[in-house]
Amino acid sequence: MLVEVAVAAAVRGTFTYRVPARLAHEATLGRRVAVPFGRSRRATGYVVGFPTSPPAGVELRDVVEVLDEFPLFTEGLIRLVRWAEDYYLVPPGELLRAALPPGLNARRGSAAPARRGVEFAAPAPGAQEALGTLSRARAQRAVLEYLLARGRIPVEELRTAFPRGRAALAALAGRGLAVLDTEAPPPPGASVPAAERPLSLTSEQAGALAEIAAAFGRFETFLLHGVTGSGKTEVYLQAIARLRAAGRGALVLVPEIALTPQLAGRFRARFGDEVALLHSGLSDPERHAEWLRLRRGAAAICVGVRSAVFAPVQDLGIIVVDEEHDGSFKQEEGPAYHARDLAVVRAKMESAVCVLGSATPSLETLENARLGRYRRLTLPRRIDDRPLPRVEILDLTRFRSRTPSPGLLSPPLAEALAATLAAGQQSILFLNRRGYQTLVVCRECGREERCDRCAVSLTLHARRGVLLCHYCGRTSAVPRICAGCGGEQVGIGVGTEQVEAAVRQLMPAARVARLDRDAVGGAGDAAGILARFARRETDVLVGTQMVTKGHDFPGVTLVGVVLADTALALPDFRAAERTFQLLTQVAGRAGRGADPGRVLIQTYNPRSPGVACAVGHDYAGFAEQELERRRTLGYPPFSRMMAVRIEGSEAGARECAEAVGSAARPALGSAVAMLGPAPAAIERLRGRYRWHVLFRAANVTALRRVHRSLSSLAQRPPGGAIVRFDMDPHSML
Ligand code: ADP
Ligand code: ZN
Repeated sequence: MLVEVAVAAAVRGTFTYRVPARLAHEATLGRRVAVPFGRSRRATGYVVGFPTSPPAGVELRDVVEVLDEFPLFTEGLIRLVRWAEDYYLVPPGELLRAALPPGLNARRGSAAPARRGVEFAAPAPGAQEALGTLSRARAQRAVLEYLLARGRIPVEELRTAFPRGRAALAALAGRGLAVLDTEAPPPPGASVPAAERPLSLTSEQAGALAEIAAAFGRFETFLLHGVTGSGKTEVYLQAIARLRAAGRGALVLVPEIALTPQLAGRFRARFGDEVALLHSGLSDPERHAEWLRLRRGAAAICVGVRSAVFAPVQDLGIIVVDEEHDGSFKQEEGPAYHARDLAVVRAKMESAVCVLGSATPSLETLENARLGRYRRLTLPRRIDDRPLPRVEILDLTRFRSRTPSPGLLSPPLAEALAATLAAGQQSILFLNRRGYQTLVVCRECGREERCDRCAVSLTLHARRGVLLCHYCGRTSAVPRICAGCGGEQVGIGVGTEQVEAAVRQLMPAARVARLDRDAVGGAGDAAGILARFARRETDVLVGTQMVTKGHDFPGVTLVGVVLADTALALPDFRAAERTFQLLTQVAGRAGRGADPGRVLIQTYNPRSPGVACAVGHDYAGFAEQELERRRTLGYPPFSRMMAVRIEGSEAGARECAEAVGSAARPALGSAVAMLGPAPAAIERLRGRYRWHVLFRAANVTALRRVHRSLSSLAQRPPGGAIVRFDMDPHSML
């Protein structure tokens, strides 16, 4: 007996092994096996097929051991992985490994945990007053703050937000600050506890739901285009409820769960124990257990991040991709794939409905809707007809002389902050840069402090008193004088830390908090900061993209964008689109409650389309202009791209990139344009040199021809470099 094995390594293609008679019953599709590979005696692989005849001229070796008691992947999932292998030009074993929760990669797949009753946690009476006694127990404090904000919740929900939530909860219960109770396990098939009841839908929501539900049972893709706060989530929830009533499963992909515990919480509240969560905030054994609950059919709904597109949901009826435009759905490191696009492919394979939801759909998705491949449903209004916030531009070129530090807080923004505070309302200030000052440069010769491993400038973090590389995380001391000429060093540019300081100086009485990757050590801290803000114990929240996500804070009436231009400056053809999306997202945080919202955007580029259209909430206008520009320049969605990414030593990477260029040239013909070879915008990362070659063509067929002309070179890259293919690349850095 022979098996086809995808080895969990960076090698393209699959390998054939013999199965010894003693393992013949166990070596079934989707199980992991140990096999000899290359010079190593043992590598992990996945059984993906059963060849009838051995490949010619190869000496076959034996499978050593079968590692799982039951298949981890269904036949359908293996088909999806093989499709992705072929389309994305990535190693299948790497994809399968990336799909599995890490807890499963190490050990034998074991039995699923027994079905338990649903545990609930709630704050004990008097817990609010006791918060102060927890100043040293940070994890407990964060969990208790979350409970105080949310009330009685399933313990499971805590685990989405806090990596070590269980231990902290047990400690809180021991101190008498939290109360735990267990409800009997729900009868099989029932969606208990349904703590939260479905809302009665607006006519627009009901219309969208009716169209989606009418497609159940076959493949169809919808674009659910709804402005921020229009009630998209409620549509997802009720569509899934209908499928559950018919006993079918659902998959919900979201950009980042740790930052949006509210969203995962709403699914848990509606569907209870039927929801399995897959994201990096869970410990490995927890993810492992969630995966097995899905695999065994004990959970029917998966809410997860990117890699959950491979989650083993049974009898899949719907896939929802929330915030489909979000860049986090694109996997860039390791095997490159786009989870949103794979979601559509998977829905097609399993005759399921796919719903792509966004307030600012990506131009690729919009174009697919315009071509009739996807059906577009719109929710043009906010719930209760709450107005969208008023957005105003503050042209920084006009304030330059009047503020000591241009780009920080212009007089109108400062006045608005003070007025909001005086009215007892809350503000969010957004800046897409951490740290205190962006760059440290020499006043004399202009030399800037850069990371010698990553070739990017270092950021000053004043509170920690260090220079930090935001790519590799290495810190170094702040030099007094320039290493080049001995001149005096100055900081230029702004970061969130400096914005926070400016707000404190402006309004000493305000309670200010900062949310960025420096302020939070883990998901738990972020949830704590967000929970305090939700309870209105903070007046001003300063932060990076983390504050733009789908939070629902009714007390926020002012959103300030400190500098809209940071994303515009990136060398990336999607820079304008990203800027528009970010500005729209963050503006959508304002005015979600009874009081109307106001948004002030500081910028040096008031007329750039990404900024100007955000003012009028003008998605259609932005899309029209940007699509026209993309058409003229020949960028996606009017073409397809493939990136070849090369990494190695300084000389090796260059040699390899040039070899890729010459090997590809004969295959280009008139159909394919080659950009490069060129050093990547981030030329060096963690000490490795990076080059890329970009290919652009009207369709994928022409790109695949280029890929074939490069495949033997990619197997044995010159100069000892590493070559990776990235189909439909996202990051141009
Ligand atoms: P989106 O996902 O489009 O940003 P949400 O689904 O979060 O919007 O809805 C915004 C707010 O409106 C939430 O607080 C939600 O509970 C509420 N909401 C949604 N649908 C309804 C409805 N039909 N009736 C009343 N409130 C609703
Ligand atoms: Zn670095």
